Amino acid sequence: MNLVGKFDPEVGAMIRKEYDRQVRNIELIASENIVSEAVLAAMGSVLTNKYAEGYPGKRYYGGCECVDEVENLAIARVCKLFGAQFANVQPHSGAQANMAVYQALCKPGDVVLGMSLDNGGHLTHGSPVNQSGILYNIIPYGVDDDGRIDYEGVRKLAEEHKPRMIIAGASAYPRAIDFEKFAEIAHSVGAYLFVDMAHIAGLVAAGLHQNPVPYADVVTTTTHKTLRGPRGGVILTNNEEIAKKINKAIFPGTQGGPLMHIIAAKAVCFGEALKPEFKAYQTRVVNNARALAEALQKQGFDLVSGGTDNHLALIDLRKAGVTGKELQRRLDEVYITANKNAIPNDPEGPFVTSGMRVGTPAVTTRGFGEPEMVRIAQFIWQAATDFDAKADEIRRSVCEMVAQFPIYGA
Ligand code: PLP
Repeated sequence: MNLVGKFDPEVGAMIRKEYDRQVRNIELIASENIVSEAVLAAMGSVLTNKYAEGYPGKRYYGGCECVDEVENLAIARVCKLFGAQFANVQPHSGAQANMAVYQALCKPGDVVLGMSLDNGGHLTHGSPVNQSGILYNIIPYGVDDDGRIDYEGVRKLAEEHKPRMIIAGASAYPRAIDFEKFAEIAHSVGAYLFVDMAHIAGLVAAGLHQNPVPYADVVTTTTHKTLRGPRGGVILTNNEEIAKKINKAIFPGTQGGPLMHIIAAKAVCFGEALKPEFKAYQTRVVNNARALAEALQKQGFDLVSGGTDNHLALIDLRKAGVTGKELQRRLDEVYITANKNAIPNDPEGPFVTSGMRVGTPAVTTRGFGEPEMVRIAQFIWQAATDFDAKADEIRRSVCEMVAQFPIYGA
């Protein structure tokens, strides 16, 4: 498991410590997962040694015949997985993929509609502190009083501002997104529809969420969340002209040499996602999220939008009398990892927040089922309402629970 320690004890010890933390803790961060040993091995392979600027068959370096095969396989597999005609598998991350889309389809100063961060969008969807918000004229949209995307509000903003592009997709939105409706709105005002499906890509691959590829002009995803691959990004489209612009925007537009070891790991991940077991896994992810959401509500928590359709739930902590920051700290102390998160119209700032985002991809990979979701909801409720009295008991119960579900054989 830890070859590094044989050669560099100092770094090896740090990796071992993080490994032990992952084994010990219940992982509820909705954007994290536990990759297969094949994905891990591909990331640690000799492909990291190779420079391959350019694209398969059109590289700026010699000796690319083997990595060309790897990149072509990754492209073929991801196109099959999502029913796309063109894919760029080189983005180093989701943020890099998104920046390349802006560069390919917009000019600085263009009007772009994106979901605001405090309503569930991502930084790269136009936050003023992100390059997207600095370079483009972002008009934010959000959710209605029920915590659901306000499609009619999006339509009104689109008609008023005539954007160059509309971004759909989110980081903290527990409900299904209607990409067909977004496409209709975008195309009715002559805007591109760009879907960032980073969070739900695994559900889409498994047929458990509407696939945006047939509707959107361009789709990005990360590969490390529900998709359960290496950290990285992908861009998909069915439009050949857009595909050419995207390729230019990645290289030479915004990146240099591709990470060929990561692209190999992406190929492994896409291969895994094409297998029937992956659909069964994603079904368990969604069932666990629903069970967790229902159990949290039974304990007494409010949830933004009243529940979940996907892999995550967003707890509104205002009635529980604890901030997101404080609950995250308490959960860390009892070996449960989750993240504080803004809720719509949050009275607290982004470092404190009144919300907590919880997701089931990692615990489901580990083998947790619905009975564990009910226990986890109890732990979170006790941590929120009676922490000092219950902390030791929760920690003991967490240790007993994780011991039944080893990861990487430990
Ligand atoms: N898009 C969405 C919707 C995300 O939630 C995230 C990350 O959380 C990203 C993009 C950015 O991905 P990365 O962290 O790989 O840059």
